[in-house]
Amino acid sequence: MQPPVNPVPAATRPGATTPPLDVRVWSTPLHVRFRGITVREGVLLRGPAGWGEFSPFREYDDAEALAWWRAAREACDVGWPAPVRDVVPVNVTVPAVGPEQAAAIVRASGGCRTAKVKVAQRLADGTVEPVDVEAERLAAVRDALGPGGRIRIDANGGWDVDEAVARVRRLDRAAGGLEYVEQPTADVAGLARVRRAVDVPVAADESIRRAEDPFAVVRAEAADVVVLKVQPLGGVRACLELAERVGLPVVVSSAIESSVGIAAGVALAAALPELPYACGLATTQLLVRDVVAEPLAPVDGAIRVARPVPDDEHLDALAADDATSRWWRERLERVAARAVTA
Ligand SMILES: [Mg+2]
Repeated sequence: MQPPVNPVPAATRPGATTPPLDVRVWSTPLHVRFRGITVREGVLLRGPAGWGEFSPFREYDDAEALAWWRAAREACDVGWPAPVRDVVPVNVTVPAVGPEQAAAIVRASGGCRTAKVKVAQRLADGTVEPVDVEAERLAAVRDALGPGGRIRIDANGGWDVDEAVARVRRLDRAAGGLEYVEQPTADVAGLARVRRAVDVPVAADESIRRAEDPFAVVRAEAADVVVLKVQPLGGVRACLELAERVGLPVVVSSAIESSVGIAAGVALAAALPELPYACGLATTQLLVRDVVAEPLAPVDGAIRVARPVPDDEHLDALAADDATSRWWRERLERVAARAVTA
């Protein structure tokens, strides 16, 4: 008897159960502490279509890591849809640092005309950074960017509604105008209330990528912009579909990946029909080392659409120690097994 003919060739089905051709665990320190981490690490997988990155943060459980795995398999099994543009404008990201360092980061950004500044930073004693400190940081960033630059802030859900409304108004003045505020509160209802209270547009990030239902933001009219990240949302195609259904302007951001992961974000930004905002993909500079000879970094404020290929020299230089390597390989196996039954 003839075996049944599968109408879709295996190589075009992301997440096929065939093992990857190569698996490399990488690890690099960061230049500055970012979202509580000082080391970034993950796995690179090679498949018939090239390299993909699997780098969910350590604290994410296997269920949450599944989307990251799908994104990696899409990259290495089938690649990405064709781009509609060759360059992607990007923002520089300014962590919760002092004003001098903030200005220096903007000046060293490779010509970025948009800055995203972190606010609502939780201090060691559990309190939130004072608004005066944030205002100084924003004034320094405005100085470094000049009047034509754009400034957005990201609170990572760190404020309650009243605090958000008061701080956004104050920081809007300090910055000489804000492009938008990203995730001022943790919950969707809070975003909607802040959005009604202030003139600054609101962007949803965590409310999209870590939500049970990303459309709750749309139903509640809680955002003007949505931030999409390829790995947490399961791949470039999944993000394109989500963008179409959400119907709001999209900003593509990274999860602080190596250049292999960033290439997937660039592919998404390059394939979106409209791209009105600079994307948060200029993050390879946060890594002390990268897996490719020429990291995906901005020139004149934009990243050229490209798919850099890791080489053995860089992969060896970033090779994780045995314990880290074992941890990631076991995690990869567990998540891959879960993908078969999911
Ligand atoms: Mg964010």
